[in-house]
Amino acid sequence: MSSHLPVATLGTPRIGAKRELKFALESYWSGKTGQPELLQTAATLRAANWARQKARGVDIIPSNDFSLYDHVLDTSLMVGAIPATYGETPDLDTYFAMARGSQTAHICTHGHVHHHGPGVPAQEMTKWFDTNYHCMVPEFTPDQAFRLTAFKPLEEFLEAKRLGYHTRPVLVGPVTFLRLGKSQTAGFNPLSLIDRLIPVYADLLCRLRDADADWVQIDEPVLALDHDDTTAQALHTAYAAFAEQVPGLNLLVAGYFGGLEDNLDLALSLPVAGLHLDLVRAPQQLDTVIAKAPADLTLSLGIIDGRNIWRADLAAILDGLEPVIARGKLQLAPSCSLLHVPIDLDLEDKLDLDLKSWLAFSLQKMDELKTLSLALTEGRGAVRAELAAATSAAEARRWSRKVNDPAVQIRANAVIPAHSRRKSPFPDRARLQHNDFKLPAFPTTTIGSFPQTAEVRHARSAFTKGDLTAAQYDAFLKTETERAIRWQEEIGLDVLVHGEFERNDMVQYFGEQLSGFAFTRHAWVQSYGSRYVRPPVLFGDVARPQSMTVEWWRYAQSLTDKPVKGMLTGPVTILNWSFVRDDLPRATVCRQIALAIRDEVADLEFAGARMIQIDEAALREGLPLRRGDWDTYLTWAVEAFRLSASGVADTTQIHTHMCYSEFNDILEAIAAMDADVISIETSRSKMELLDAFTAGNYPAEIGPGVYDIHSPRVPEVSEMVHLLSLARQRLDDGQIWINPDCGLKTRGWAEVRPALVNMVAAANQLRGRFDCV
Ligand code: GLN
Ligand code: ZN
Repeated sequence: MSSHLPVATLGTPRIGAKRELKFALESYWSGKTGQPELLQTAATLRAANWARQKARGVDIIPSNDFSLYDHVLDTSLMVGAIPATYGETPDLDTYFAMARGSQTAHICTHGHVHHHGPGVPAQEMTKWFDTNYHCMVPEFTPDQAFRLTAFKPLEEFLEAKRLGYHTRPVLVGPVTFLRLGKSQTAGFNPLSLIDRLIPVYADLLCRLRDADADWVQIDEPVLALDHDDTTAQALHTAYAAFAEQVPGLNLLVAGYFGGLEDNLDLALSLPVAGLHLDLVRAPQQLDTVIAKAPADLTLSLGIIDGRNIWRADLAAILDGLEPVIARGKLQLAPSCSLLHVPIDLDLEDKLDLDLKSWLAFSLQKMDELKTLSLALTEGRGAVRAELAAATSAAEARRWSRKVNDPAVQIRANAVIPAHSRRKSPFPDRARLQHNDFKLPAFPTTTIGSFPQTAEVRHARSAFTKGDLTAAQYDAFLKTETERAIRWQEEIGLDVLVHGEFERNDMVQYFGEQLSGFAFTRHAWVQSYGSRYVRPPVLFGDVARPQSMTVEWWRYAQSLTDKPVKGMLTGPVTILNWSFVRDDLPRATVCRQIALAIRDEVADLEFAGARMIQIDEAALREGLPLRRGDWDTYLTWAVEAFRLSASGVADTTQIHTHMCYSEFNDILEAIAAMDADVISIETSRSKMELLDAFTAGNYPAEIGPGVYDIHSPRVPEVSEMVHLLSLARQRLDDGQIWINPDCGLKTRGWAEVRPALVNMVAAANQLRGRFDCV
């Protein structure tokens, strides 16, 4: 038995068990509270986090894992990477201006909005690797200078120290930081700035060491990306410099979100004291690393899933760890920071008790790590009860009737390739559809949702609380839907939508009606800044007991002679925005969802819907980190979409929608989805991304977004006509639909009305001017 096996967390959720951070931020932004209150809330949250970890027996407690908004933005401020537009002072105003943009507007006592100056836009956001956490993209110039301008890691280390916690500070690694960044200058690679960034990090590390830190955790998830020589060189340079310039400080480099694979030798050659391994995503690397790692390299074993919420089968984990424990110099940790899981399962007082016994959130994961550590140091006997409980939960889950639905499994196994193929190829279908629909050239439509006004949200919450009866709520939604239909007819849109007033969220709405999904009350995780989500828990086989959208479609269509699109969320998006069961391959789970959506498509068609839109907003973001894994993912993802869409007659037009703008590298897959019409976000890219769709690369019809729905601005007719002329340079006229970039649920009617009136006017201009088809 080894003498001591410390437990680390690598990082914890920062938002507060009751979303305290969100409310403090919003109150500060609205001017209701000042800086002292915000900072006090932040300090209280940090103190509570440290205390909780201590109480749970965590040995290596992190500091600087907290952030008011985003840890990458913190790093930009720390090293003085503040673009000139935001000024020079690394204070809170600058920080939030970079995070959210500043409009320098205020509402006066008469209710008028006054603007002072032009304001600045927010920095761009990007996904933090393959998580659903979004960070702010650092911006660099070729003559970028760095300076240690903020001391947050040091301040929080000292703050913890004053409270009696000796912490291991966490930093975003310099190489990861640069790789996440971008530059306006074409061809400039931010990694070339590494030599200028190193002294700033070295300075900070010295200060941390002098303040008594003995270890610092440096997150370098770039180690889980495909090997690339420039990145490798930057890592070598940086860590060699730290070893030389900061003697006496132990660095633990954390390469998580995947296996080290072709970066293994690189990682092992870095002159650092410790290396963290993601053994959940890549369990197979343990043996190789143990065999190859120098004996004095401390290994942090990430064996509890930091990305998902399932309780671990501790005995099974022990089977794998016991053989290696004699090595010594080991630590136990989650696979990655616990930032990506909700805080405390105990808060879920309404969850099905069986399901609850199969889950572990951040605090429960700490308990699991502690149990493993005790079992490995004192023997399994020391934690017999805990191990038995975990095993019996795993057994119960495996055989539970709540998880297993034999009918679903049989049906999914019986899927054959023909189920994922439309009856005829696109050109034949298009001919039939055009004959049927007789739409004008450049048909106009929207993406699905109309403004979720305060009224709509109040009605929903009144209904949830029981203040509105089901009948009252239904009547309210019908009125909203009818108004939306009438108004769309009035302004002359060609293909209408019902407006999605009945939907809280495009995934939750379906999850709540499908079997195999559960919903939590408090299990929030940070999506970006103060935006948190409560992903559905996909725990069992998925079936659709009854139709989910048909009644709303039928009602909307009964009000008009124009076609109303059926509106569904696609299987890949439902999967990618949920916490997904870990006992089946994702491809299998996705196929089950696809079959459920296929049933809904069939019901809509049977009810008379001739156009059905299946949104796949999250298809691209499911792409694996490593290129070598893309094909497998895209193959099953596209297959799932096609399975959901292909049960219909040729005359039924399948639409899909994707709201992002990088298609070049996955265009083949998008084309393989074989939708009849796709609507995409293009307005901000000035139609440039349509380049990918030109040259006959994309056979079907396309609605390139002509109206940026992320901004309250109402675009002029001429702007949209201009965008469309750019689209017409790249596409055939017969391919083009006209629509906004995305759904309109976050906008107000005051902007949506004039914007869509202008959009229809733009279409009419095109029709008049270029009389075609
Ligand atoms: N139909 C959805 C809507 O309009 C699509 C949303 C999305 O793509 N994110 O809201
Ligand atoms: Zn969208």
